[in-house]
Amino acid sequence: MTARKGKSAAKPPAKPPAKPAAKPAAPPADRATDRAAERPAPAELTAPVEDYLKAIYGIEQGGGAAATTDIAAKLAIAAPSVSGMVRRLADQGLVSYERYRGVRLTDSGRRAALRTIRRHRVIESYLAQALGYPWDRVHAEAERLEHAVSDELVDRMASAVGEPSTDPHGHPIPTRDGIIDETRHRKLSDVSRGQRSRVTRVSDEDSELLRYLARIGIRPGVVVQLTDRAPFDGPLTLHVGKGSCQVGPALASRVLVELLPD
Ligand SMILES: [Zn+2]
Repeated sequence: MTARKGKSAAKPPAKPPAKPAAKPAAPPADRATDRAAERPAPAELTAPVEDYLKAIYGIEQGGGAAATTDIAAKLAIAAPSVSGMVRRLADQGLVSYERYRGVRLTDSGRRAALRTIRRHRVIESYLAQALGYPWDRVHAEAERLEHAVSDELVDRMASAVGEPSTDPHGHPIPTRDGIIDETRHRKLSDVSRGQRSRVTRVSDEDSELLRYLARIGIRPGVVVQLTDRAPFDGPLTLHVGKGSCQVGPALASRVLVELLPD
């Protein structure tokens, strides 16, 4: 058997010494700090740059390059200011941009995007698990904090809540090394009648939606069965747990699922 040194990431952080040490204290040699120190320090990016990269990553995950209009819609800003920023991102080597073909992250742009996404999702998980925040309130906090926290703090937060692989809304958390599960999931609105599926992810941006989903029992891990679908984009009837409910297709399109065998 080989020693499995690399697997101790989930251990609790070292206890602080009860009294100040007599000699100058060496920094605690736990995993989180080791790993943060191993990584090359990425160039400081501004909060707007991080938001752009995150938005472009999100659009690319929907398939293909990001059009400036998509980026503008996602960030709720005017398209002309997007074009200026995209040129600056291209100058920094974070995106490649071709007229009419849209914007794509370069490798370093993708690394930077995943680093911000990791910070966001670890913060959400920490707020929910360690501080008892309800799932509809973590996103707004994480949007602000994601630009401010250090990689070391994020690693320690992740370690403190057991290295979660997904955030409270079911979105995958990139590893420290920037590896992320990019499995595409189906929208609940696209499931056929009679089909059973398990909820994997829900949209995290709308607190009202999250509160409503909690009320009807929809959260990651829950099994739902689509029992009826009214014509002309009408409501979908779902079996959730022991009850049933009706939801509109707009709501169902913001819930992602994996199909279960019959
Ligand atoms: Zn979020």
